[in-house]
Amino acid sequence: MQGRPGGRAEKDVAGTTISVEGVSEVDRVLLASPRGFCAGVEKAVKALAWMVRVFDAPVYCYHEIVHNRIVVDHFREQGVVFVDDVSEVPPGAPLMLSAHGSAPEVVAAARANGGVVIDAVCPLVTKVHHELKVRTNKGYTVLYIGHAGHEEAVGTMAVAPESVRLIEHESDLDALAKEDIGGEGAPVALLAQTTLSHDEWRGLMESARERYPDLWMPNRSDLCFATTNRQASLKAMADEAGTIVVIGSANSSNTIALEKVALASGCPRVLRINEASELPGDLTGTVGVTAGASAPEALVEAVIAELAPRLGVTEVMVTTEDEYFPPPPELRELLRSVGATLGFMAGLAGSRSDSARSDPVTDDRGVSAADVLDMLAS
Ligand code: SF4
Repeated sequence: MQGRPGGRAEKDVAGTTISVEGVSEVDRVLLASPRGFCAGVEKAVKALAWMVRVFDAPVYCYHEIVHNRIVVDHFREQGVVFVDDVSEVPPGAPLMLSAHGSAPEVVAAARANGGVVIDAVCPLVTKVHHELKVRTNKGYTVLYIGHAGHEEAVGTMAVAPESVRLIEHESDLDALAKEDIGGEGAPVALLAQTTLSHDEWRGLMESARERYPDLWMPNRSDLCFATTNRQASLKAMADEAGTIVVIGSANSSNTIALEKVALASGCPRVLRINEASELPGDLTGTVGVTAGASAPEALVEAVIAELAPRLGVTEVMVTTEDEYFPPPPELRELLRSVGATLGFMAGLAGSRSDSARSDPVTDDRGVSAADVLDMLAS
């Protein structure tokens, strides 16, 4: 792809408007906040980084640790082998299970393989697994709004395949016969994949509620805080942007949800890119930039540098996020058993926060996943 004209953009996250050098046809960048890595991705990336530090290569990972090609390639360079079937993992080899959550039989097969298993599932996905189990045990048929074949949907539905029905489109609701939902008057519940677009979820939820007036739903939808916040920050800037650039991979559900939200906002031009080199050379005016929950901030910085907005960058912040998920319990146990004297994240954490300095194994919030990726690359 053709590169953009212009010079260098300087981004100062603390401020709202940032000066730039160079000549560009892009006037201004509106930068959505929150964007990029969420707490679940932070947890998973840092956990896999620990694994490659503790074990000799290869370390195995069931499914992509998070849906971002650049992050996955980064770990491949560190000797991580990504597999889609636990049978591909040699007996006794260390294995990580991805952030999207795994089917119970996959977790069982992983544990039966004889090696160390660390499950990096996001706690918010685990919550949906739990809700499905509870509703099934209470005799409900569960309508699950999600995307066929997506790893999170596959893993969740496998928790109770006999009682769950996948709803991807309105036609899936139309096609449900009485016997599919346990007969007339039987209890029906509604759950969802965590990373859907709000509009997509709301439309299907309202249709389901019309059909089943006694439908049970959690008090809050299963769409996670990171999904909700990233869509809200994109919406907040959409009216002003002539183009919106969504950074993230095509197999990232929350990235695709952002793309849908941007298109629904009426923005004249929406681009989803993996990295700055994919930017077209004809962008002008005001460009909105955001990133899916599995896209590292370094990609955002590279995109801004490439756009080199003449009048700088304005951050559009709708909320701040302070959610934090500690390392998986099996990992904490493992690090304690090996002494955690690797000086790896511990060293970084010591310079970043008091809480991390006290015990970086239990509480590693003083270190970001971006720092860890940089450190592995160095
Ligand atoms: S997008 Fe939401 S559910 Fe997925 S890993 Fe991030 S916080 Fe967890």
